[in-house]
Amino acid sequence: MHALATISQSALSHNLNVVRTQAPHSKIVCMVKANAYGHHLDLIKPLLNADLLAVSELSEARTLRQYTAKPILLLPGVFNNADLNNAVELGCHLVLHDLSQLPIIINSKQHMTLWLKVDTGMHRLGLSSSDLNTCLEQLKACSNIHVESVMSHFACADEPQHTSNTLQLNSFKQLKINKFNRSMANSAAILGMAEAHFDYVRPGIMLYGVSPFAIEDNKLQAVMELSAPILSIKTILAGESVGYGANWSAKKQANIAIIGIGYADGYPRHAKNGTPVLINNTLCSLIGRVSMDLICVELGDLKASIGDKAILWGHDKLHVETVAKYSDTIGYELLTSVSSRVRFIAHD
Ligand SMILES: *Cc1c(COP(=O)(O)O)cnc(C)c1O
Repeated sequence: MHALATISQSALSHNLNVVRTQAPHSKIVCMVKANAYGHHLDLIKPLLNADLLAVSELSEARTLRQYTAKPILLLPGVFNNADLNNAVELGCHLVLHDLSQLPIIINSKQHMTLWLKVDTGMHRLGLSSSDLNTCLEQLKACSNIHVESVMSHFACADEPQHTSNTLQLNSFKQLKINKFNRSMANSAAILGMAEAHFDYVRPGIMLYGVSPFAIEDNKLQAVMELSAPILSIKTILAGESVGYGANWSAKKQANIAIIGIGYADGYPRHAKNGTPVLINNTLCSLIGRVSMDLICVELGDLKASIGDKAILWGHDKLHVETVAKYSDTIGYELLTSVSSRVRFIAHD
């Protein structure tokens, strides 16, 4: 009896179609970094129909190459010749985001495709506009290098009213890059800022059925269902406590179920008492501390048996966003934290 993550192929197709509908004039770069946001690169076949796929490590590009012939965008780019040669051999497009990468690029004789990343206000990765001009100037002499696109990234797209969105968009539009493709939109901007779609959109979290906004989005379908079996059921008396630290005790006699999943599987240790868990189509409450391998749930009057499936997230009645709120985190972190101990399977 194992914790199980099922990856819905129809939900992946559906969510990719939502991207197509929202941004009908843009090409799509599916963000599959961090092992496809924790969904496993070998289980996301419908996303491989996109124009490009993006990863954040060469090792991820190598794994992904086993499943697709599409170009792969290597988000951090390269910092030495060995990585450059490996990346080009794997069919990667390289991101250049820091001037220190330029000499390695221009001194190489390899035929390669570049994406230039500009900082428009997030102040994480990206060239300043003057560094961008330096790059463009020096790249003019390199006939072996094709610049496919200029890209930038929003800091606050999940808050559509945030003033920095317009500021970033305006500074992006002011760059003299009209002869290149442009790319700016993550999931939040795909759903909320049509002006930012440009030539390539870069959906991540929405592909996996999770809303980038504080409000859940019912256009999307959850892709990962995380579940685990009930291992034991017992009745405890008023005043008796449950779990480490004895931090929850029964006010009156209670039926509880012990479920075979814990923080070593990626269920968040900080989930509070009351976090919902779905058993036999009924929402129950987490009680006591999350242990390494186990959690406890109050069943109330619900009829349940050993072996019954408890759904932790990924159901119409229980979104990962809800569990994230109860654990003071975001869906992104929960999805990417499901551990290798959990069995993963693809599902229609
Ligand atoms: C991860 C990432 C995205 C996707 O962001 P979501 O919020 O998951 O849609 C887009 N662009 C870049 C550069 C990224 O690193």
